[in-house]
Amino acid sequence: MPSVYIKTYGCQMNERDSEAVSAQLVAKGYTLAASESAADVILLNTCSVRDAAEQKAIGKMRTLAAEMRRHRPEVVLGFMGCMAQSRGRELIDKLPDVDLVIGTQKFHRAADHLDEIFAGKRDKVVDVAEEQGSEATIREHVLNGIGASKPVTAFVSIMQGCNQRCTFCIVPDTRGAERSRTIADVVAECRELVARGVREITLLGQIVTSYGRREIPVRDGKSGFVQLLEAVHEIEGLERIRFTSPHPKGYGDDLVEAYARLPKLVESAHLPVQSGSDAMLKAMHRGYTREKYLGIIGKLRGVRPQMGVTTDIIVGFPGETEADFEDTLSLAREVEFDNAYIFKYSPRRETPAAEMPGQLPRAVKEERNARLLAVINEIGARRYENYVGRQAEILVEGPSKRNPARLMGRTRSNKIVVIDGSERHRGQLMDVKVTRAGSFTLYGDPAIINVE
Ligand code: SF4
Repeated sequence: MPSVYIKTYGCQMNERDSEAVSAQLVAKGYTLAASESAADVILLNTCSVRDAAEQKAIGKMRTLAAEMRRHRPEVVLGFMGCMAQSRGRELIDKLPDVDLVIGTQKFHRAADHLDEIFAGKRDKVVDVAEEQGSEATIREHVLNGIGASKPVTAFVSIMQGCNQRCTFCIVPDTRGAERSRTIADVVAECRELVARGVREITLLGQIVTSYGRREIPVRDGKSGFVQLLEAVHEIEGLERIRFTSPHPKGYGDDLVEAYARLPKLVESAHLPVQSGSDAMLKAMHRGYTREKYLGIIGKLRGVRPQMGVTTDIIVGFPGETEADFEDTLSLAREVEFDNAYIFKYSPRRETPAAEMPGQLPRAVKEERNARLLAVINEIGARRYENYVGRQAEILVEGPSKRNPARLMGRTRSNKIVVIDGSERHRGQLMDVKVTRAGSFTLYGDPAIINVE
């Protein structure tokens, strides 16, 4: 059977989609290639959040197409994911060597389309239609991929799409309206993962806190999302639960209270703020104010004082004044984020913000990016330094990426800790003493490890 290589751009949702497609292809008899040069099919799973991400994938496909045309013309080339959804047939018109374009609601059809191409039944396939129930099709996992040992952590997609329509964001167009899987379906997938050795699950969605808003009635004051957290929490053998990406408007008292009550829900929140200025938050259509956001952080730290908080921030949004930007700097200092992903505003086609007056020059965005980064790094370094000398529980995930001779795990607050250890420690919860802090990494002394 043909072998497939998928190259993934963008967020964790894309990583998860690629994994599910890989697993679906393996189930149909395809094999996974270790590199592009060994593959009969090369798929690029694309991101549309910034124009640069789209250009990167298009550039990559151009290079691949030129190479394959010369040396291996039989190789099937395809785009999948967000850019495939938003550009559709245009991609084949632009790059005629592309054989397959699969949209975000059609990942599960990849194997069928490839079968037809290999059988010579179809030449080019563009499949970007909406499909009812597609949110429940991202469920297979590659638990024994190429060279992979049994994974300790796993991502589970619980919903697709977003209805928020932030004015800068293309996601509602590439991923469609919010659709959620059932609680029973998600729990069944989590149970299966735990039975195969997974100990930490991250629940995934474009706006994960909106899970079940339409499908699951509020019960005893608890949203569908909190009901799902409770159900996943019941799974025996599961040690930790995380979720991403939430929206601040989803942090009602029921969710804050869930942190107080569900010990497997770790003290870590990636809570995108985007700006510290109310004027900008309004122009972005974020649906909360600075005060509301600060209130949520206060409540979360009230129930879990060790809560690690990370965020996403956009600098240089249209109309952002120096005073607006300073509001963002002051919010970063007030919250004391553990880390932040900073994005220089980049206009996306067919989004309201792209047409707004007050588009800022690149130099202003660069300068604000550098100033904010300096503040985030300074606060992060301090917060990481605070761990030195303290004990922390880590879940050992496997070899460290930078130094495979050592192991890495994460604290409950989502900080990477590098330790010495051996394969038998993988999947263990350990208490380590933190001896040193590097750049957004902690180091633990193996001599004082207590194996559970
Ligand atoms: S909440 Fe806003 S930024 Fe997040 S996916 Fe939805 S529209 Fe995009």
